[in-house]
Amino acid sequence: MRSHEAGALHGQAGDRGPAWLRRPDDPDELVPHLWADNVSKVDGVLTVAGESAPDLAQRYGTPLYVVDEDDFRRRARSFREAFGPDVDVYYAGKAFLCVATARWVEQEGLNLDVCTGGELAVALRAGFPTARIGLHGNNKSVAELRRALEVGVGRIIVDSVEEIDRLAALTAELGVDAPVMVRVTAGVEAHTHEYISTSHEDQKFGFSIGDGSALEAVRRIASVPGLRLLGLHSHIGSQIFVTDGFEVAARRVLQLHGQIAAELGVTMPELDLGGGFGIAYTTQDDPSAPGDLARNLTKIVDEECRAQQLDRPRLSIEPGRAIAGPSTFTLYEVGTTKSVGLDGGASRRYVSVDGGMSDNIRPALYSADYSCTLASRGSDAPAVLSRVVGKHCESGDIVVKDEYLPGDVRAGDLLAVPGTGAYCRSLANNYNHVPRAAVVAVRDGESRVIVRREDEDDLLRLDVG
Ligand SMILES: *Cc1c(COP(=O)(O)O)cnc(C)c1O
Repeated sequence: MRSHEAGALHGQAGDRGPAWLRRPDDPDELVPHLWADNVSKVDGVLTVAGESAPDLAQRYGTPLYVVDEDDFRRRARSFREAFGPDVDVYYAGKAFLCVATARWVEQEGLNLDVCTGGELAVALRAGFPTARIGLHGNNKSVAELRRALEVGVGRIIVDSVEEIDRLAALTAELGVDAPVMVRVTAGVEAHTHEYISTSHEDQKFGFSIGDGSALEAVRRIASVPGLRLLGLHSHIGSQIFVTDGFEVAARRVLQLHGQIAAELGVTMPELDLGGGFGIAYTTQDDPSAPGDLARNLTKIVDEECRAQQLDRPRLSIEPGRAIAGPSTFTLYEVGTTKSVGLDGGASRRYVSVDGGMSDNIRPALYSADYSCTLASRGSDAPAVLSRVVGKHCESGDIVVKDEYLPGDVRAGDLLAVPGTGAYCRSLANNYNHVPRAAVVAVRDGESRVIVRREDEDDLLRLDVG
């Protein structure tokens, strides 16, 4: 077990790290499970699929998102293979969607979830088969729904009464059917290492099972001729490690599935259990392999169906982070360093890099933890507890809150942060008018830009003066 290590924190004065963080014997060494398959160090220099970090930084600039394309594809494929031909795997595009990743996902045999008209536009630009696209969102506009129906998306996951009425009007107007699923909330709130089971849900997504609104939504859909009800949909959260939360949710959703068959005489052919499978950002995290997830989830569904004497609906799942996240690291250049005195005579080393909350807002948004390594050279200097921060005008602009880095890290060095493939570029912003970073894909010793870096013209394009 790698999770929740009680790290040895009895180091020298100046150590103010969290309990889980261990002082490494060799700070140059990579912790393999935090990095993409084809990343390693050669004489202290980080390389990915045959390209070295300094070469990539020189050619494309920093900050730079570097995707190990084969790793991304392998993770996509491993979900599909682990769950087998009876389960549809939808890549949750919001984790990171661009034309290239949409094509990789399509080529590896997965389907695709989008949740806005913009994400749908990217999928269409990539030529993604529309029958394999699902449309999510708690407030889809009429224009978004119309577009989805016109291009023929495979399913629309409805989230409100208004949406049912909008779809009723649109299907009548356009003379088409809408395949729909009903987003339900099962009263399960999942956090990284725990879950909470609640009787009612205080959040914006879905129809509650507990208060009867999910059943009411199904009844309403069944009364509209243009709506074809595929099944129920449940997504309990993100970066989840415990399968208990999935288990409780799946059982509640299947009970509703059975109740709908018994009370309304409506047999739904499908069931979606959502995504949210956790990844390793630091040594605290110990994610399950897709094979274990597949075994656990299908066992729960089979048991519940047997108990209720139901035919098993066709399952689907929606991993996003678990496919995109580990495939990518972000490369930064160090600009300044300083030591700041703490109470008791200790000090903390701040290392400032040329990006920050504009390319990775997760530490500021969720207090997310990351790790990092010196990427441009080896070092024999003793490790010191460091905090890597960005260049933005916020003291919460933290990239890696606590990490042991060689004590001689200095301006001009490159640092690499693993696990930045999901919810980093997709949440990137222009705070302080910092141009958004490029995304480069590396495969078999070849690199190419898949999302180009913004420049000053991009920054000023919308400013009409
Ligand atoms: C965000 C989301 C996902 C993907 O979550 P990950 O944590 O990236 O796996 C899947 N389904 C729905 C409905 C979502 O909102």
